[in-house]
Amino acid sequence: MERRLYTARLTQKHLLSERTQCSHLTLEVPALERFNFLPGQFVSVVEGRTLPDGRVKQETRAYSLASAPQDNRFDLCLNRVEDGYFSNRLSDLAIGETVQFYGPNGDFTLREPPTDAVLIATGTGIAPMRGFVEWLFPDDTSGNTGDRSQGRKLWLVYGTRHATELYYQHYFERIAAAHPNFRYLPTLSRPQDDWEGLRGYVQSHAEKIVRENPTVRTAYICGLNEMVSATRTTLKALGWDRKQIVFERYD
Ligand SMILES: Cc1cc2nc3c(=O)[nH]c(=O)nc-3n(C[C@H](O)[C@H](O)[C@H](O)COP(=O)(O)OP(=O)(O)OC[C@H]3O[C@@H](n4cnc5c(N)ncnc54)[C@H](O)[C@@H]3O)c2cc1C
Repeated sequence: MERRLYTARLTQKHLLSERTQCSHLTLEVPALERFNFLPGQFVSVVEGRTLPDGRVKQETRAYSLASAPQDNRFDLCLNRVEDGYFSNRLSDLAIGETVQFYGPNGDFTLREPPTDAVLIATGTGIAPMRGFVEWLFPDDTSGNTGDRSQGRKLWLVYGTRHATELYYQHYFERIAAAHPNFRYLPTLSRPQDDWEGLRGYVQSHAEKIVRENPTVRTAYICGLNEMVSATRTTLKALGWDRKQIVFERYD
C-alpha cells in the first residue's frame, strides 16, 4: 500500500502542565477536507535531522491522536522529554509552522462488538483515551453528536504522580457528570495531603474494578512499558485471555 506523506500545520497550542512541560497541540491538514482515522490510532511524524557532520538522518516518532476524527484537524498530547529530539522539536513548534507525517497508523482501537471495559492510562497515555471518549460521548466541543457507547459501562483509570499532571481532568469530569455509564477515576502515586481521590498504581484499581464487575470483558491500556506489562500480568492472573487486553506501549 502506498504511504502518503501529509503536511500538518499547528493551529493551537497550550501547556497542560508546567511541571512536566506537557502540551496540547491542535494541527490541521490543509490538503484534506477530512482527516479520517479510528480513535486511538497514531501519526508517525517525520523530519530530516542534520547531524554535526552535515549528514541528514530521517527521524520518525509516533504520537497518538488525542481527539476523535472531525474535519481536517487532530490533537496531540505531547510530553517534553529531557534531551529528546522530536518531543522538543514539536513542543517548540510555533503557530503556523508545519510538520510532516504518515498515518493514521496502529490498531489500538475500540474492539467490536463493544463490551463493558476498563481504560487504563498513565501520563500522555491518556491521549488515545481522550480520542475514545470524544468519539463515544461526543459533546458540543468535538463537533460530533450522538452517544455511541451503546450503554456499555466504561471506567477510565488514570494514573499520574501529582494532581497537576492530570491532563484533561475537567473534560473527563464533565463527560462523567453527563454520562452515568462513564466513570473517571484519577489516581495519584505521590498525592498532596489534601487529595481525596484514589491513591497508588493504576493496576490495583483496575484489578478491583474487574473483580467487582464481571461484565467488564475488555481492557485498553496505554503508557510506558513498565505500567503496561504490570497491568497485563495482573489481568492474566485473573484468568483473562490476551485477546481481551488491547495495549499500546510508548517505549
Ligand atoms: C505508538 C506510540 C504512540 C506514542 N504517543 C505519544 C504521545 O501521544 N505523546 C507523547 O508525548 N509521546 C508519545 N510516544 C512517545 C514518542 O514517540 C517519543 O518516543 C517521545 O516523544 C520521545 O521522543 P524524542 O525524540 O523526544 O526522544 P529521543 O531523542 O528518541 O530519546 C531521548 C531519550 O529519552 C528517552 N525516552 C524516549 N521516550 C520517552 C518517554 N516517552 N518518556 C521518557 N523518556 C523517554 C529515550 O530512552 C532516550 O534516552 C508514543 C510512542 C509510541 C510508540
